[in-house]
Amino acid sequence: MAAPNPINKTEEEWKVILSPEQFRILRTKGTEKKGTGEYDKLYEEGVYNCAGCGTPLYKSSTKFDSGCGWPSFYEGFPGAINRSPDPDGRRTEITCAGCGGHLGHVTKGEGYKTPTDERHCVNSISVKFVPGNASTSI
Ligand SMILES: [Zn+2]
Repeated sequence: MAAPNPINKTEEEWKVILSPEQFRILRTKGTEKKGTGEYDKLYEEGVYNCAGCGTPLYKSSTKFDSGCGWPSFYEGFPGAINRSPDPDGRRTEITCAGCGGHLGHVTKGEGYKTPTDERHCVNSISVKFVPGNASTSI
């Protein structure tokens, strides 16, 4: 079960903080267009924080090229990401544990050569990349 999110804002409060597109994806579970995300092809060293609340979610070292058209990670920071089944029962949604913002979906067992064989398929717009040495940023 997903834990209660420490940050609880109203829809109106989020609209002030987020751009309309960020609001659409983070708060209404939208999806950015495939292959258009600003971080789809980015492989610099750093940390990906939640665009809504700043919680560190992924290290650049866990990002891999899945070819799916969205940033893909094989693992998030421990406890930073909640999972819940989609209403259709087929996919597993991932959300920020800090604010409940929609990140994307996670799938397992697709055969990627990564330590977890999980693919966190994340909207670029749901995260904010902070360049730098990932080991000292948290
Ligand atoms: Zn968040």
